[in-house]
Amino acid sequence: MKAKELLAIASEFGAPVYVYDSEKIKSQHERLTKAFQNVGTLKVNYAAKALSNLSVLRFMKHLGCGLDTVSIQEVRLGLDAGFKPEEIIFTPNGVSLEELEKAAELGVQINIDNLSILEQFGSKHPTIPVCIRINPHVMAGGNSKISVGHIDSKFGISIHQLPHILRIAELTKIKINGIHMHTGSDILDIDVFIYASEILFDAAKKFQDLEFIDFGSGFKVPYKESDIQTNIEELGNKLGERFNEFCKDYGKPLTLAFEPGKYLVSEAGSFLVTVNVVKQTTSTVFAGIDSGFNHLIRPMFYGAYHDIRNLSNPNGKERFYSVVGYICETDTFANNRRIAEISEGDILCFSNAGAYCFGMASNYNSRYRPAEVLWHNGQAHLIRERETYEDLKRNQIDIGTQF
Ligand SMILES: *Cc1c(COP(=O)(O)O)cnc(C)c1O
Repeated sequence: MKAKELLAIASEFGAPVYVYDSEKIKSQHERLTKAFQNVGTLKVNYAAKALSNLSVLRFMKHLGCGLDTVSIQEVRLGLDAGFKPEEIIFTPNGVSLEELEKAAELGVQINIDNLSILEQFGSKHPTIPVCIRINPHVMAGGNSKISVGHIDSKFGISIHQLPHILRIAELTKIKINGIHMHTGSDILDIDVFIYASEILFDAAKKFQDLEFIDFGSGFKVPYKESDIQTNIEELGNKLGERFNEFCKDYGKPLTLAFEPGKYLVSEAGSFLVTVNVVKQTTSTVFAGIDSGFNHLIRPMFYGAYHDIRNLSNPNGKERFYSVVGYICETDTFANNRRIAEISEGDILCFSNAGAYCFGMASNYNSRYRPAEVLWHNGQAHLIRERETYEDLKRNQIDIGTQF
């Protein structure tokens, strides 16, 4: 999006505000589906948790995506956004049997990631087909906070427990219609991903009723100019070909599924904030903004890098800044970052603010969560209002009369 368009949105809806560009979401989706055009049936299930605004979910539905969900509430949002139950897969971790049963009742595809629940669910509902989440114990990349395939990971059923899965399936007569892995974020090495896929193919051979194989996600997107990103085209060629070969051996065409979150929405998002103060100290220059980890926690939580531009003075001389928030904690967004000269009142723009940004926002320090805007066909649509004081007080019960 152009700086002019972003500034107009900040002035119309106020800042801080999240802005999502539907065109970018669409082009990412097209790139992914094109990379796998050699595969008979490809299913892209958007991982709702990356950005779960109802209008964004509706847009994903419009693009032809299915939906990957991790809570019964996300399932409900998906249904409200127009997804049919059979277009939704429920891939939670550590949830109760009751929550899985609720999702199954709604008609969504269940994905089970532990033996205990598989046994219980299978015994009670042998006629409801389920998918199995396997942990292949392969680190596909990224750091340990976003890798979920390693040996200590809480996600999935260990590949070494395959005999036990098969035994439970046999005893309960439950039909396993899908097999799944998700090795975590930031796949850099395609060969490592292919290696993990081979483990999944090997396991898949043991199940007779498969309809799909789900390879999860973790596609890496660039956060800065020098960043390497997953070569989707190469992955599409290699994995697609291997998948077709597998289907031939299996004797039946299966669906190849993915569940990208970040890949579809990260780069589509911009986060606009206002500079409250420029503070010169003995060691640095702070740019203090009207936001903090209550709105965007990724830099503090994962050490994530988000590019920061000064929209108000794009051609200004670059200087080094520490960009910090207004929360009464250390909430540093960037240290020693070169940014075009900043004055108080300037609007700064954080890039890659589509995935895992608004969704992790909180009311810490009793601040409002920001507004969200979807930029679609050259028009700005408000898709979430900024919170108000009433929102902060909602659900609180004042027992002042007791004192
Ligand atoms: C979070 C999650 C995803 C999405 O991961 P991205 O890195 O955002 O693409 C996919 N599958 C499962 C099971 C997830 O929990």
